[in-house]
Amino acid sequence: MLNDPTLVLNRSWVAITTTTVWSALGLVCRGAARVIEPETCITYDLRSWSDLLPREGERSIRTVQSRIRVPEVIVLTEHDSPPRRSVPFSRRNLYRRDSYRCQYCGMGQTTAELSIDHVIPRCRGGKTTWENCVLSCIPCNVKKGSRLLKEVRMRLVAEPEKPHWSPCLLVSKANRRPSWGQFVNEAYWGVELDHDNDP
Ligand SMILES: [Zn+2]
Repeated sequence: MLNDPTLVLNRSWVAITTTTVWSALGLVCRGAARVIEPETCITYDLRSWSDLLPREGERSIRTVQSRIRVPEVIVLTEHDSPPRRSVPFSRRNLYRRDSYRCQYCGMGQTTAELSIDHVIPRCRGGKTTWENCVLSCIPCNVKKGSRLLKEVRMRLVAEPEKPHWSPCLLVSKANRRPSWGQFVNEAYWGVELDHDNDP
């Protein structure tokens, strides 16, 4: 549970990253952050937070003297806007960016039925980048082969680009807390970034 993710807001209450519960407690302990109670939006330092008793069925951490509620959201008190992490170029994030859909025919597929295709083939100088890699289903991949789109009269569903940073990209769906919803831009949650069959 100490390795579960905690959402981190900057001083303007904008979600900027996630950290582990353990690190979040460390920040709160040092006074660098305060815990936000998601229902009331009241902020707490470590002492006042540990005075709040865990509610029935709520996740909590056992301490020497009592139980402390798991901080799901914290707000930084010191830094105005620490640098955002850029989205790592990874297989998992590429699948999320393309919403598990073939970018040529638009069909949604399972992970096993999709592969990563270079729009400009590597043998023709195409790079392995966000802008040149897309998900492709097997039939589209076979049809395209190592040719250019115009040579096979195929089109992309959307122009591939580097995704905008989102806290969701760092945490799998199963590990996101419902309480984060109110702190994270609606647009982030509206886009289907995730899938249960993560590669
Ligand atoms: Zn396809």
